[in-house]
Amino acid sequence: MQERFKGILLTRDDTKAMSVNVTELGLDDLMEGDVVVEVEWTTVNYKDGLAITGKGPVVRRWPMVPGIDCAGTVVSSQSPRFKPGDKVLLNGFGVGEVHTGAYAAYARLKSDWLIAMPEGMDGRRAMAIGTAGYTAMLSVMALERHGITPARGPVVVTGANGGVGTVAIAVLAKLGYEVVASTGRPEEADFLKGLGASDIIHRDELSGPGKPLGKERWAGGVDAVGSHTLANVLAMTSYGGAVTACGLAQGMDLPASVAPFILRGVSLLGIDSVMAPLQLREEAWSRLVKDLDPDKLDALAHEVGFDGIVESAHAIIDGKIRGRVVVNMK
Ligand code: NDP
Repeated sequence: MQERFKGILLTRDDTKAMSVNVTELGLDDLMEGDVVVEVEWTTVNYKDGLAITGKGPVVRRWPMVPGIDCAGTVVSSQSPRFKPGDKVLLNGFGVGEVHTGAYAAYARLKSDWLIAMPEGMDGRRAMAIGTAGYTAMLSVMALERHGITPARGPVVVTGANGGVGTVAIAVLAKLGYEVVASTGRPEEADFLKGLGASDIIHRDELSGPGKPLGKERWAGGVDAVGSHTLANVLAMTSYGGAVTACGLAQGMDLPASVAPFILRGVSLLGIDSVMAPLQLREEAWSRLVKDLDPDKLDALAHEVGFDGIVESAHAIIDGKIRGRVVVNMK
């Protein structure tokens, strides 16, 4: 293991102004944990964008190495669960927020947060999926638990060109669902259809103030956008349907009425990836091995190096990233 290694460190001065420093770190700069992982692959999620641009209160401990996801190899372990050489995967648990994270050559982590790399998955693929894709899978699993089968009717996916959206479309289509993709980038229609969307709608149809109930258009929804969009998706969900909510790309508010719930028995299913229990995580990752075609994943992910992290973080907040960014740390 190298004594000094590359990393990104977010610092704050007395006036709380934040700086992003691409620098050299040592193990002492990393917070406590019983496993040290050599980070081989990471990614840039929306939350990482919020952390690096300072546009959202993601970082709650300073200084901070950002980066909420990583895949790599264990280099030292005080845990009986892992030994040097094991391939592991980490998503969430406050890493990159309150515990030093993935944007460094090494990460010191708690073994309870790690999962062994699932059979059939590798580090690059896992990070091309990342928290966004794993959250998409958690969303699909929640719809399934609610009995939303392909026979019930179409499923709408909002924020279609984003990380959650692209993976949700690819997985739902593979499972046989008819997918309606809502996007502000209709010029990407061919790309979204290539992932498996049957129908493309402009996000403007959903993003303004709407009626308490609308025409029943879909049996379910995967929403990564929140605000008026989620309210309208609920208002247009058919009797007994369900919509998952995981994101706030449009806003954190939910200007909705209770009408879809009390007149159509529609359910709103909350999705949290950060503190999801280990069993659910392992199930989601093994489902991703099975239910996400590798060629679709290749189509929706593009690779950058460590030097591309900061630029990608700004681009994701500006809505300029299509699909997923996978970071090769080598
Ligand atoms: P991305 O930035 O990759 O995707 C978000 C997409 O939302 C954009 O590509 C865009 O799609 C759409 N969008 C952006 N701005 C607006 C807007 N103002 N109004 C309507 N649509 C908009 O982010 P991710 O997919 O990685 O994450 C999506 C959301 O999910 C984020 O809020 C993130 O924080 C949240 N999230 C939550 C998790 C959890 O555990 N609950 C885990 C992972 C993510 P298009 O161009 O097609 O319109």
